Amino acid sequence: MEKRLNGQKALVTGANSGIGAAIAQRLAAEGAEVVINFLFNDSATDELVKKIEAGGGKAMGIKADVSNEEQVDAMFKQMFKAYGTIDILVNNAGIEIHNLLENMTKAEWDKVIAVNLTGNFLCSRSAIRQFLQNENRPSKARGKIVNISSVHQVIMWAGFSSYCATKAGINLFAQSVAQEYAEKKIRINSVAPGAIKTPINQNVWSDPKGMADLMTKMPYGRMGEVEDVAAAVAFLSSDEADYITGTTLYVDGGMCLYPEFRFGG
Ligand code: NAP
Repeated sequence: MEKRLNGQKALVTGANSGIGAAIAQRLAAEGAEVVINFLFNDSATDELVKKIEAGGGKAMGIKADVSNEEQVDAMFKQMFKAYGTIDILVNNAGIEIHNLLENMTKAEWDKVIAVNLTGNFLCSRSAIRQFLQNENRPSKARGKIVNISSVHQVIMWAGFSSYCATKAGINLFAQSVAQEYAEKKIRINSVAPGAIKTPINQNVWSDPKGMADLMTKMPYGRMGEVEDVAAAVAFLSSDEADYITGTTLYVDGGMCLYPEFRFGG
């Protein structure tokens, strides 16, 4: 594999599972040294570190709740002690809690906002502060952030209004910050996956009826694989995307193409 990220230091949040794990492996395969952030599952993190090292890469796990300011500060401190700096931040950690608005508790709302949106703010702020110190890094940009958003930054989703609020929020937050720091040669973009096969949506892909329904929304005729998302993140993190900032790359098999209209308007 081409080593577009040789010598760069990356942090991927929520990276011991699903999309984050694939991103960590891809960035390492392209030459980056990678921090795998996670919250609960130590053994999955250890296994992933071993897998990356067995493939000749370099990785370390750091446990931290991205919604907790002290833990995020401590995580970045630990990373800088080990790796010296950061070149690439991937804000991937995210959760969803199903509930109709009439039944939604404030605790449920707060939890989704805290992890998905406040977590993005806290990690982006720490990364930006360090990017501004970066000089002579092995990349044209001084630093790059890639957010894992969702098609639900633009497609409404009944029962998941809190999740949609965070993903739509990430979009304009990221674009505003991209505007703030473009002249400092810092790039901020998002990848918006459609339906990607991971533990977060196991209830859908493990049920034939759920899968059949999903396929009616999927012009490309298959669920996405985690590697589809990881490839987009690697591209946006690399110098091949050096003139790209403040945008969203949809990786969704056409889910945003109003699939119902395939059979007449
Ligand atoms: P997943 O397999 O459930 O993984 C979620 C990851 O987030 C885990 O590594 C988990 O770590 C970590 N995490 C949860 N809360 C955390 C916190 N407070 N601090 C740090 N880490 C935390 O989910 P996924 O499907 O790969 O989703 C990853 C991202 O892609 C999310 O932002 C999601 O919204 C987005 N996305 C997914 C899809 C899809 O179809 N799968 C589609 C669109 C967007 P532990 O296991 O240690 O708790």
